[in-house]
Amino acid sequence: MSIAQNLQRIKSSLPTTVTLVAVSKTKPVTSIIEAYNAGQRVFGENKIQEMVEKYDTLPKDIKWHMIGHLQRNKVKYMAHFVDLIHGVDSFKTLKEIDKQAKKHNRIIDCLFQVKIATEQTKFGLNIDELESIFLSTEYKELENVNVIGLMGMASFTDDEIQIRQEFRGLKTFFDQLKTQNSAFKILSIGMSGDYEIAIEEGSTMIRVGSSIFGNRNYN
Ligand SMILES: *Cc1c(COP(=O)(O)O)cnc(C)c1O
Repeated sequence: MSIAQNLQRIKSSLPTTVTLVAVSKTKPVTSIIEAYNAGQRVFGENKIQEMVEKYDTLPKDIKWHMIGHLQRNKVKYMAHFVDLIHGVDSFKTLKEIDKQAKKHNRIIDCLFQVKIATEQTKFGLNIDELESIFLSTEYKELENVNVIGLMGMASFTDDEIQIRQEFRGLKTFFDQLKTQNSAFKILSIGMSGDYEIAIEEGSTMIRVGSSIFGNRNYN
């Protein structure tokens, strides 16, 4: 199946409340153009350097989402164009985004990444850490970032019950925060292997790579 056909198949199955982020990390610009020509405008990358290179060569109406772990010293390279940052996993990083956004007179939309998986390797904040950030005065004073929701990655497992439970826990927390924070609107959960479960559990944004572009080759 072609990239256009994959996109068509996935998009036709999505409720209108769910936004598809096409995860193009490691894929060449030719593949992104194919998706672009099929109407896709939102793309996700997990390395700042790679996203900047692609931004420079591709059409400017593309919305670039940073979905990976952030290196604070590289935030400055994407601050002039990034549309949404999914993987904010510390207050320090949020402050750096605020500082860089200010230089470009922008307000950058961000999601806090919450750790919901059981694996040691997954980045993210826990619920207590997040609550103390939200309560701090320093947080309330940031003017150039807009935290509009949460992102999470479920455990890498075949156990659908576990995946569903992890997503459900995050949705409950998301709903709770939403009652206190009117800007909250995005729950970014679901990848190629689990986006159907994520949507059943309340996802509003899915990040799909291999089901659109094929498997990635890491050399
Ligand atoms: C790579 C990646 C995805 C997409 O993964 P697929 O399984 O290829 O759909 C989604 N989210 C994050 C954070 C990723 O790094």
